[in-house]
Amino acid sequence: MNSETRRRFVGAVGALLVGAASGSARGAGRTGLVAGEALSRYGFTDGHPLGIDRQGAFLAEAVRRGLIDRAQAIAPAAPASRDVLTRFHTADHVDLVARAEADGIRWLDDGDTPVFPGIYEASAIVVGSAVMAVGRVMAGECLRTFQPIGGLHHASRRGAAGFCVFNDIGVVIETLRVVHGVRRIAYIDIDVHHGDGVFYAYEEDPDLVIADIHEDGRHRYPGTGHAHEIGRGAAAGTKINLPLPRGAGDDAFLEAWSRAEAHLERHAPEFVLFQCGADGLAGDPIADLALSPRAHRHVAERLRGLADRHAGGRLMAFGGGGYDRNNLAAAWCEVLTALLD
Ligand SMILES: [Zn+2]
Repeated sequence: MNSETRRRFVGAVGALLVGAASGSARGAGRTGLVAGEALSRYGFTDGHPLGIDRQGAFLAEAVRRGLIDRAQAIAPAAPASRDVLTRFHTADHVDLVARAEADGIRWLDDGDTPVFPGIYEASAIVVGSAVMAVGRVMAGECLRTFQPIGGLHHASRRGAAGFCVFNDIGVVIETLRVVHGVRRIAYIDIDVHHGDGVFYAYEEDPDLVIADIHEDGRHRYPGTGHAHEIGRGAAAGTKINLPLPRGAGDDAFLEAWSRAEAHLERHAPEFVLFQCGADGLAGDPIADLALSPRAHRHVAERLRGLADRHAGGRLMAFGGGGYDRNNLAAAWCEVLTALLD
């Protein structure tokens, strides 16, 4: 970042990063950007790919592109309460994370998700911020939101997995249903990894419509998301998994996307959730697709249209994965641009 960019960065996002009251909003527009210092605390130490600098890398680029002033800046919320977390998670999992530091637990899973200082609060802030944003959308205070630090799609109801402690998307789905009476929800996931934590939690739920494009699980974590997985029982046919071969680029992605879009259109969702992980871009250090940021721009534009046609415009996007800082900044800026008025 050069000095001029840095000065503008500090000026434009200073209120986001320090001093803004939890959940407070400022600025214009119908698109909310949920970001701030408290959300940057969700990150691991010791060179882990999911470090605490990812939000800053995105915000610096968003400032450079002039996007920040066009959004409603929404400060992170207080940590989600235990009652909110257990809308999706088991009490055992929530309690384990709460005592992990005190008990000296080093890992929450088999070696992907280490315990870090402040892990419970930081993880609960990701969820609390997403739940707060749902409330703003349902109250008509904004129409669309983007939360770069969020979309932790590998955590299951019972446990952490794949860098994901609590599954903010799962809690948002339960909150939409329990608090706001919204049933038919679409979840679109273009992170390079299959969104297994969401998929298997709702595999038998016919009202959770899923489209998930990812690198083929035969050679990529978490090893799932095969084309034959379409939902079970009454939910058969409400999910579509579109694995891409190693090295696939925009052409293959857009072909898969056209199938995903037709699937979503058929199910006319009342609310749209979008996990726009940037780890499918060429050069990501832990995956092997070769997308460009145009893929993210295209999907965000098309989902905005889908939401306008069926969901009264209501759409929430979450950053998900992405470990090359330039890639995540570029991909997420394309998503935010597509969502801005
Ligand atoms: Zn990922």
